[in-house]
Amino acid sequence: MSTSSDLQKLRDTYVAKSVSNATPFYAKRAFGAAIYDVDGREFIDFAGGIGVMNVGHSHPRVVAAIRDQAEKFTHTCFMVVMYPEYVTLAEKLCAIVPGSFPKMAVFANSGSEAVENAVKVARHYTKRHAVITFSNSFHGRTYMAMSLTSKVKPYKLGFGPFMSDIYRMPYAYCYRCPFGLRYPECHTACADYLKEFFIGEVAAESTAALIVEPVQGEGGFITPPPEYLPKVLKICRDNGIVFVADEIQSGMGRTGRMFAVNHWNVEPDLVTVAKSLAAGMPLSAVVGRADMMNSPQTGGLGGTYGGNPVSCRAALAVLEIFEEEGLLQKSEALGRKVKARFDEFHKKFEIVGDVRGLGPMLALELVRDRHTKEPAATEAKALVKFCYERGLIILSCGNFGNVIRSLMPLVITDEQLDRGLAIMEEGLAVLSK
Ligand code: PMP
Repeated sequence: MSTSSDLQKLRDTYVAKSVSNATPFYAKRAFGAAIYDVDGREFIDFAGGIGVMNVGHSHPRVVAAIRDQAEKFTHTCFMVVMYPEYVTLAEKLCAIVPGSFPKMAVFANSGSEAVENAVKVARHYTKRHAVITFSNSFHGRTYMAMSLTSKVKPYKLGFGPFMSDIYRMPYAYCYRCPFGLRYPECHTACADYLKEFFIGEVAAESTAALIVEPVQGEGGFITPPPEYLPKVLKICRDNGIVFVADEIQSGMGRTGRMFAVNHWNVEPDLVTVAKSLAAGMPLSAVVGRADMMNSPQTGGLGGTYGGNPVSCRAALAVLEIFEEEGLLQKSEALGRKVKARFDEFHKKFEIVGDVRGLGPMLALELVRDRHTKEPAATEAKALVKFCYERGLIILSCGNFGNVIRSLMPLVITDEQLDRGLAIMEEGLAVLSK
């Protein structure tokens, strides 16, 4: 068996450097919230493959479902020969996605593709073309998804021209309020600004969709105040704009509810789901209002692999796990534990400027000075490295790269959680010297 350093030589020679790597080792196997590498080391996983492993690595139920389906058949293409797993999963997703109206679903392979499809549906349905997105957003790497994404380096630099008719609103980033205001005295003026936006940036009657991550993921776990999304939703409804919630990172139990919008009783028109939906099997979905989803002509949506049967079986197993293991309750409890420790870190270490998030989708924003809020990006990088060297995988995010986020499997044990948090604390103490 090759070592990580042998494999790294192959990687450097044969794999394009444009694909980034957060850690320098090679996985051999993984279970729950632990990953073991080819060199025999164990790591606690606070990353979950970027929020994909909410049910934990190699959950026996998921493994059994994948194995069973692979033995039956792996592909027919739903557009050629249909199979029960696709329609069963569609039914179940329509039931759990918020919205007290008839819903329908289509499946694709990646989060980016789900975003592409949501925009296609919205444009087709409204017969309008403009799309409103937000600063600090991330929606993927395909052309429409990349164009909607905010952060230029590394996601967009050199890849233009981008899709046209995309308009970017400031987000409710209270820690660095783009309007220089303070919550709650601001009365969420950032949401009301959408009305002004229609005057100065794009006409409401040209706007097909507004796409928003209820808790921004790659952008730094930016969590809007409670009034924000209901207000934005209402303005969209008043103006016939399709409200798309991108729940690719925040969904599937990540925030202590099945979807982040559940926290505010917001019913999006369309929801994009991916990542933890199928526990690592490639699968994404757009779920939303039946009349919208049914608008495009037959053949307008779809794809060779979309809703692959093995992925659908994995997703059905994931939904069973949520039910049977009370994963939403586990998620809430985990969120409380992590929040308590992160709040302690905030009290103890000046470098922690902000603690935010929902449920266990939590982050620390690191700053060099609490007053100037100068982003501490090199320090965040150093913390990630410190943790990795002591057996903890953790990711940074944020437009400045100075936010540390928690995306551990929801099934993490108390012992693993405490060990991981202790490593983080040790790292923050070293950074604070
Ligand atoms: N939307 C959000 C909110 C995401 O977090 C991501 C992935 N980080 C995507 C879209 C893109 O998903 P994928 O990488 O599967 O294309």
